Amino acid sequence: MKAAKIKQLDLDLLEKGKIYRFWLSLTSDGFGDPLSIPIFVAQGAKPGPILGLSSAIHGNEINGIPVIQQLFRELDPNQLSGTILAAPVVNIPSFLRKRRRFQDNVDLNHIMPGKARGNVSQAYAYAFFHKFVEQVDYLIDFHTASFGRINSYYIRADMSNQVSAEMARRQNPQIILHNPAVNGTLRGAAEAIGIPAITLELGNPNVFQPAIIAQSLEGVYNVLAMLNMFDHAYESQEGANIPVCQSSKWIYTRKGGLLHVHPKVTDYIEKGQLIAHQENIFGDRIAEYRAPQAGIIIGKSVSPVNSSGGRILHLGILK
Ligand SMILES: [Zn+2]
Repeated sequence: MKAAKIKQLDLDLLEKGKIYRFWLSLTSDGFGDPLSIPIFVAQGAKPGPILGLSSAIHGNEINGIPVIQQLFRELDPNQLSGTILAAPVVNIPSFLRKRRRFQDNVDLNHIMPGKARGNVSQAYAYAFFHKFVEQVDYLIDFHTASFGRINSYYIRADMSNQVSAEMARRQNPQIILHNPAVNGTLRGAAEAIGIPAITLELGNPNVFQPAIIAQSLEGVYNVLAMLNMFDHAYESQEGANIPVCQSSKWIYTRKGGLLHVHPKVTDYIEKGQLIAHQENIFGDRIAEYRAPQAGIIIGKSVSPVNSSGGRILHLGILK
């Protein structure tokens, strides 16, 4: 199937019961050529809402890409009510460089919804938000941990919003983090215009992790069933037992040195438990770190060389 090059995505013009591929231009590059993102559209045979899927707004966070590919490989649009609009790679320049931030070193997930006559990253963010996000009724945004860190499979969602809370539970994640959306994030900008949105944190950067990818695809089907867009038997794998953190905090090193982090992701820890130590280059133990309070390990550093203020672990606080 060829992918047509387009400047605008007009869903009303697309015939029902079909799958489409496009290259949607957002801005243009230094040659004056369009800077375009790949787009999938599944136009359902029956009417219904529009679910948006966006991945790799951080260019090195790629576990969401195969989730979207697999969904569109197997989906029958004749069985679909409504539309699925998916952008497997939002941040094109940084996807190609395997980097998190945009080409001007700005984090696109801090400047949403962008600015029409703004700087390089603002203009790109604006075009994406305007041409893609404003079209959807619900949004799932796929991320992973950052470079040098690993994550559990966890969801960031505003659990005080009933719709996004149910979208989050239906991912069957290892952990849910209640996290009212922050200004400038894609999720925050979407929620500000009334689009319920969740952020999926799918493991680690720069890799494909098949087990997490499969589980996340199941989560997308569970949301399609929730929105009455597709028949799918939703089985709550962990039911009410998914740990829901009310807040979270990063714990940092006091000094520089080689860092060893003790707990694994998803481990529960007690207040005062030894969670990490640092050694000097001769292997002498020079610092120890204890948990400031009880919680669950959402993510952790796997990057041993640290200056003062290096990240140790991301602690989820359950109450
Ligand atoms: Zn991210």
